Amino acid sequence: MPDKFTAVKGMNDILPPQSARWEWLESTVRELMARFAYRNIRTPILEHTALFVRGIGEVTDIVEKEMYSFHDRSDKYGDNDHLSLRPEGTASAVRAVVEHNLLYDGGKRLYYMGPMFRRERPQRGRYRQFHQIGAEALGFPGPDVDAELILLAAALWQALGLTDVRLELGSLGQADERAAHRAQLVAHFQQHADQLDEDARRRLHSNPLRILDTKNPAMREVVESAPRLMDFLGPQSLAHFNALRAILDASGIAYTINPRLVRGLDYYNLTVFEFVTDRLGAQGTVCAGGRYDGLIAQMGGKPAPAVGWALGVERVLELLGEQGRAPAAPAPHAYAVVPDAAAMPQALHTLQQLRAAGVRVQMHAAGAEGLGSFKSQFKKADASGAAHALIFGADELAAGEVTIKALRDGAGAQRREPLGDAIRWAITLK
Ligand code: ATP
Ligand code: MG
Repeated sequence: MPDKFTAVKGMNDILPPQSARWEWLESTVRELMARFAYRNIRTPILEHTALFVRGIGEVTDIVEKEMYSFHDRSDKYGDNDHLSLRPEGTASAVRAVVEHNLLYDGGKRLYYMGPMFRRERPQRGRYRQFHQIGAEALGFPGPDVDAELILLAAALWQALGLTDVRLELGSLGQADERAAHRAQLVAHFQQHADQLDEDARRRLHSNPLRILDTKNPAMREVVESAPRLMDFLGPQSLAHFNALRAILDASGIAYTINPRLVRGLDYYNLTVFEFVTDRLGAQGTVCAGGRYDGLIAQMGGKPAPAVGWALGVERVLELLGEQGRAPAAPAPHAYAVVPDAAAMPQALHTLQQLRAAGVRVQMHAAGAEGLGSFKSQFKKADASGAAHALIFGADELAAGEVTIKALRDGAGAQRREPLGDAIRWAITLK
């Protein structure tokens, strides 16, 4: 171990003032989820590894190489379990829904936010601990709910002031349509085997759809000339897709159809979508989602349809930063200047009442050298960004009062207020 500790590679501390932007994003999301009647779900960060193998799929980047997994030691509560830090939120949400039988009285709309873990190469927009916000609608089969989820994401971009994201939309059809497509896809890749990289060759038979999701630029041509799944859709799948499009059109949500959007697993079907930007380099997908009507049954639940999306918080915040949308933490309304330690008990009592009335007050705290001079306290009051200084001087306390001095608008103006009556004048500070 070095004698100085650092955070684990690819895992970031989120510090003030940047953390204020996270809080702002999270509170905007909470407010919006309430408007769409989505309810919060919180699941453990550790799950049985088998859950992710089943829920994400064995032949995926995540399960093959990105999970943080370990053998828990056995004790009387569990037997040598193989556990993993969650790499995404859907598998856990579905597990909880099945475990607690949440769909017993109909569909549920859920959302979550929190850290996810993937051992990827750290780079801009790609971290080993990153954060997702996800929305899942379980138990609803129709394109109306697919549309609702897309409208929810669009409303979020609007509430955040995020521009420069565009919606790409596709359909994976149903299992039989994918099987017909898959046969031709494998034949196409076999014909061009010389253009496939090692990952693709390995997946050719286990998960050929995933090859379409490659990030290898050398494979662009062979991927672009591949047969398109959307050309294999039957009338029912097309009807679902067109109904979704009609709702988006009526709501003025622009999109482009991307026939190469894929999810490589059998329980994904019909709608797939991504919100992408050109402003974050290779890490351009800020939000991805789709329908997974087969997953609940795959996880041992009674078959029920479901659809959802997840967004990458770091990518959304980075894009907002690019656009100069970076709200700061609110400054305190007032800063308490306490020239004499004897005044501290009375001062803190008053501050408590002001805070209860909703006033943001920063207390002047003593350092190693004590409280410091009146002048140095005032300097700190000014630097805090507060609009007012509250002066708890000996004079004031003798009269049972506090001096309120304006630091910004009308700077210098001052007045006295009675300490016993803080609730009344608290409002004048806000
Ligand atoms: P990508 O193609 O960029 O690897 P993905 O398909 O692995 O993304 P999903 O599993 O669909 O991503 O996760 C949803 C969103 O979470 C992504 O669109 C992205 O915004 C974000 N995300 C995924 N992995 C990371 C990561 N390692 N670091 C930061 N954000 C991530
Ligand atoms: Mg990935």
